[in-house]
Amino acid sequence: MVNNNSLKDRIIIVAEHEEESARNITKALQEAGYENIRLAEDGSKIYEVLRPYYNRPEQVGLVIINEDLPQCQIREMCRSLSCTTDGSIIPFVVLSKKNSVQTTFCDKELCESQSRCLVYAMQHDFSFKELLMAVEFQLGMKHERFLRHKQEERLINELAERKVVDSKLKYLVVHDELTGLYNRNNFERQLRLILNRGKDLRQEGALLFIDIDRFSMINELEGFEVGDRLLVELVVLVRKFISANSLFARIGSDEFCLFLENKTETQAITEAQKIKKAVEEFRFFTGEVCYSISISIGISTLNTSSHIYHPSELVLRARQACNTAKANGRNMLWLFNDNDIAVKERRHDIFWVPLIKKALLEKELFLVYQPVVELNSGEISHYEALIRMKGEDNTVISPHQFIPVAERMGLIHNIDLWVVETAIDFLASLPAEMSHISLAINLSSSAFQETALLPTIRDKLELTWVDASRLTFEITETAAVENFEKARDMIDKIRALGCRFALDDFGAGFCSFNYLKSFPVDYVKIDGQFIQNLIDDETDQVLVKSMAEIATRLGKKTIAEFVESPKTIKKLKEYGIDFGQGYIFGRPETQLLKSRSISIMNLINQPTAVDSGLSF
Ligand code: C2E
Ligand code: CA
Ligand code: CA
Repeated sequence: MVNNNSLKDRIIIVAEHEEESARNITKALQEAGYENIRLAEDGSKIYEVLRPYYNRPEQVGLVIINEDLPQCQIREMCRSLSCTTDGSIIPFVVLSKKNSVQTTFCDKELCESQSRCLVYAMQHDFSFKELLMAVEFQLGMKHERFLRHKQEERLINELAERKVVDSKLKYLVVHDELTGLYNRNNFERQLRLILNRGKDLRQEGALLFIDIDRFSMINELEGFEVGDRLLVELVVLVRKFISANSLFARIGSDEFCLFLENKTETQAITEAQKIKKAVEEFRFFTGEVCYSISISIGISTLNTSSHIYHPSELVLRARQACNTAKANGRNMLWLFNDNDIAVKERRHDIFWVPLIKKALLEKELFLVYQPVVELNSGEISHYEALIRMKGEDNTVISPHQFIPVAERMGLIHNIDLWVVETAIDFLASLPAEMSHISLAINLSSSAFQETALLPTIRDKLELTWVDASRLTFEITETAAVENFEKARDMIDKIRALGCRFALDDFGAGFCSFNYLKSFPVDYVKIDGQFIQNLIDDETDQVLVKSMAEIATRLGKKTIAEFVESPKTIKKLKEYGIDFGQGYIFGRPETQLLKSRSISIMNLINQPTAVDSGLSF
């Protein structure tokens, strides 16, 4: 291990917007002998501090960062700055002021690359002694990695000098073994050269961040070898559209970056459209199955007005744009725009927080109920309770508008508890002849952190005499996987009361068949995006069929959401899906349906799909 005293002159960035905390951390560092401390009160300031050191990365020590720092996509920043394997790596010590380090840093990708990433997450109640230990440890790790990198470089140079270097070995150092493209490190290095070449970084160009839609699904279903072959075939296809010396790299398992030098925004969009179209027309064959593939592309451009100081920043912007493309339905291009993300989100949050608080206080929240139907018998198995907020002039506000804000702003626990209590009260209020009715209740992704949840459910059930078996809790697959241990523990405890569980939005996130095996859930709800176009989309058909087979084999009941047409019902029955939910059976309403069942035969023989009229 290195002598850490020699590392005390490295630059330490204290990225902390809370003044008192920044002062205390600085004082503790100074007392421990750190001489070169810089403050950054938001994300962009970090890059400003780093800018002069791009060619001297060894002088930068590390970043101590508040998890909630403004203007900062912290996960992306950690990933881009602290996940390299060369000497330019910048470690992070992340300070969580709330007890949520796990939610931010149990990201699947980050965990997978943990061996490469130098991110040290500290719980909310850390002491300065622990902080100093973490700083020392991270500095040591960075130095070791720097030395190792230097050694590797020296070795390569020596071998080259002696002309014994195997060209393949050299190639592998900078290329991705599978596709032959540049790897992430080398891509960023080359990009840095290009950026520096342009006077004052005023260079035109565009970065395309390409992500294969639902690649993880094909990997899971067909195995890694088939997944690998798909990657290679796609690379060959894309190569046809770009010049041989273009900067094209594979930077994640199914993520690619393509830099188009000296291209304007319009030219970049045209090129990206060509690539997207070619992929759309391409068919991937494996065994009996033929998949149609699509990609999402994020574009960030470089021009005289963009303030890009570091290649990773350009990559980060393109990645964010790609994420927006995926969130908006995949198979599309998205141009990076500052307003898209942070600014818009913050303005939105500031607007909504008082409204949510008022709604909780003044009883402006209410539940609507949508039937879930057994596809064989047509019997209504249960209803899903969905939250709504009363708006002005009798308007109804959708949960899409306020649930994400409530999650970001720490109001979601109150909502979760309100929903649980209200749903149980609703069951208790039903007349005796409706005591067979049961409800599915959505829990937020952070419900597992909420200690009051379990006692609230238990007490409310006891108080109202409602049978626990009349409740099913829905948690999203993404939330469950991200908080795997906690989720399993909480599910076990709530199930012990007699309640059931469903894994919601299955397939939309990790598509974790492996996790499914170990999750104690009764139902798997296949995400609506696979069902909505089921009849016209062959890939969706293959995926839904496989999901149904696997879930059934694991002893779980399957529910398909967004069932909108008679043909879809027929297909779902063919695949052996147990339950359906969607506008064709009934929209979410404040009242339950009068009948106990729905005639599936009548629906299937109905000629058209449901209209898209309004409902709650
Ligand atoms: P979700 O749990 O996946 O709920 C299903 C959503 O699909 C509901 O939207 C429902 O109205 C809609 N839907 C149902 N059938 C169809 C269909 O045939 N076609 C289409 N296009 N959509 C259909 P809603 O009620 O707007 O809820 C949106 C999301 O908000 C929910 O997604 C859930 O994640 C969240 N949410 C809703 N209620 C609650 C709640 O009480 N607590 C929490 N934490 N989250 C909730
Ligand atoms: Ca749900
Ligand atoms: Ca869902």
